[in-house]
Amino acid sequence: MVLVVLENQRGKIHPFSLEAVAAGQKFANELNCDLTILCIGEKVDELKSQAQNFKASKLILAKNDLIDMYSADGYSKVLSDVISELSPKYVLVGHSYMVRDFLPRVSAKLSIPFVSDIISVDFNSGNPHFSKQVFNAKLATSIEISSDQALLSFQSAAFSSDDIEEGAPGSVEEFNVQLSDSDIKSNSEPEFQESSSGVDLTAAELILSVGRGIESEDNLPTMQSLADAMGAEVASSRPVVDMGWLPPYRQVGSSGQVVSPKLYFSCGVSGAIQHVVGMKGSKNILAINKDEDAPIFEIADYAVIGDVLEIVPKLTEEINNSK
Ligand SMILES: Cc1cc2nc3c(=O)[nH]c(=O)nc-3n(C[C@H](O)[C@H](O)[C@H](O)COP(=O)(O)OP(=O)(O)OC[C@H]3O[C@@H](n4cnc5c(N)ncnc54)[C@H](O)[C@@H]3O)c2cc1C
Repeated sequence: MVLVVLENQRGKIHPFSLEAVAAGQKFANELNCDLTILCIGEKVDELKSQAQNFKASKLILAKNDLIDMYSADGYSKVLSDVISELSPKYVLVGHSYMVRDFLPRVSAKLSIPFVSDIISVDFNSGNPHFSKQVFNAKLATSIEISSDQALLSFQSAAFSSDDIEEGAPGSVEEFNVQLSDSDIKSNSEPEFQESSSGVDLTAAELILSVGRGIESEDNLPTMQSLADAMGAEVASSRPVVDMGWLPPYRQVGSSGQVVSPKLYFSCGVSGAIQHVVGMKGSKNILAINKDEDAPIFEIADYAVIGDVLEIVPKLTEEINNSK
């Protein structure tokens, strides 16, 4: 059996968890086994109402007042209990910040290996091999697991939520959560990024990303005007943050956010691998760069070779005139 764990993001299933559901269905089909989906902790009922539309063998709800707020202690205890009772072969999750926090504890508690941040799976006739990037995404490894069970987390865009098979779970059950106050030794503060900035790039549908190609901080308002006209959030490459032009929570890449908007509109970004790992899951990528050999064009769906400082004001004007 394969178990997918859903994470809540402000009352909805986290986009990475949706991708994990697509992964779970693929695993179940390829390995010819059952798929169970677990709704845990915060806002279980909202998760349940969305998860009821997914094809699965079973939906399990793990509710308890002590995990109404996320805590690594509470989540790792409950998930460990679920795994001990159900004995899934694979536990699948999206590689979110929360997962990075609590899943290693589950791995340590149960002595089950945790393969994190997987970018692709080769099912290899029922003996899956997992690929993940190492050395700051310069190399990819292929991992084969010899143990009976494994915890697996997937990098954004390893699977697509568009591939989720709709349907209904065969049954819906409540898990008997055993938790006491003494199990919760630490409490988490509310999500830092959202509360401090009001911006959640991971949930943005349109992103306008600026790189060093915008040449000067003075050109940021020009870029912001286009973002406003499009209704997009502004993101950036790392040098733009390092130079202090934009705050760190706007950075996309291996040391920033991993995003997968409907449109990633890239302006003067070269497309270095450390940037690309953070945005390659975007549904559509449009890139403006004056260098026709810029690596960003290797993954762009639409390539515009030209000066971003000439193109952007004209585009903003066109969009505003057409409103
Ligand atoms: C450990 C480590 C972690 C890193 N993490 C990240 C990360 O999370 N995110 C990240 O982005 N980077 C990261 N980097 C840095 C990364 O390697 C690149 O240096 C960075 O992404 C380059 O940013 P850039 O594309 O904005 O700048 P540049 O590489 O300088 O590219 C600027 C681009 O703009 C184009 N250009 C210039 N002028 C114009 C113009 N007028 N019109 C149109 N195009 C123009 C140029 O042709 C060029 O392609 C990391 C590096 C390391 C070592």
